[in-house]
Amino acid sequence: MNIVETRDLSKCYVFDSGLRVEALKDINVKIEEGEFVSFMGPSGSGKSTLLNIVGCLDQPSSGRVFIEGNEVDYRNSPAIVRLHRQTIGFVFQAFNLIPAMDALENVCYPMHFNGVGRSRQKQRASELLNLVGLEDRMCHLPSELSGGEQQRVAIARALANSPRIILADEPTGNLDSGTGRKITDLMKNINREQNISFIVTTHDPEMARAADKVLKLNDGTIII
Ligand code: ADP
Ligand code: ADP
Repeated sequence: MNIVETRDLSKCYVFDSGLRVEALKDINVKIEEGEFVSFMGPSGSGKSTLLNIVGCLDQPSSGRVFIEGNEVDYRNSPAIVRLHRQTIGFVFQAFNLIPAMDALENVCYPMHFNGVGRSRQKQRASELLNLVGLEDRMCHLPSELSGGEQQRVAIARALANSPRIILADEPTGNLDSGTGRKITDLMKNINREQNISFIVTTHDPEMARAADKVLKLNDGTIII
């Protein structure tokens, strides 16, 4: 089954001046369940826009998106919220952890919104922090963690509600190459062991090498 499919997906930004930017032009992609796909391409080629639309953080101008075979209705916000809580996990370049919460609380946070009880939240969060190798860092604030450790917390948080898909926008973009490689390995292991599909945007050749499929974007179009 295709976990994600886009059909003639386009996105055009129109500015007040009348200027139009076609960020995506008729994108057709099919991503299979359990696949690790990376999107590469120069800055401004549309990678973030594509990820944001698939992740329902942004809406297409035209075209269709299917997640687990169901068409996404971008105007139906309760359905979008459900998709986010139950199907999609996000990892960002800048980690985006909550600064006032320690690692454990950051991982608990999405479970709270999914109606998970407090003791179950803490149990799962500590299991996930263990999985990403941070069993000794549970009570540390983000400011007390290295970049690589913060990204591990973010990966644990993305896994909190047992998603089928993890979307990651330049997940190694703020990390040195050695740390980036470890994060890539961690994501690849989670992909293999848990059959979670990964869709990443990256400039990082190591990340691209870990992918089952590399799709190249240029000027809003897939070139390979
Ligand atoms: P990439 O992630 O490959 O760097 P983006 O998806 O961020 O590319 O951007 C693709 C194009 O769309 C660029 O020309 C960018 O300036 C434009 N763009 C992206 N987001 C917005 C936005 N929110 N408003 C207007 N233009 C945008
Ligand atoms: P990345 O390097 O990860 O592609 P960008 O720097 O392109 O990120 O974009 C960061 C954020 O700014 C995104 O949320 C994108 O939608 C927004 N953005 C990018 N280009 C523009 C633009 N020209 N106008 C308004 N927002 C933009």
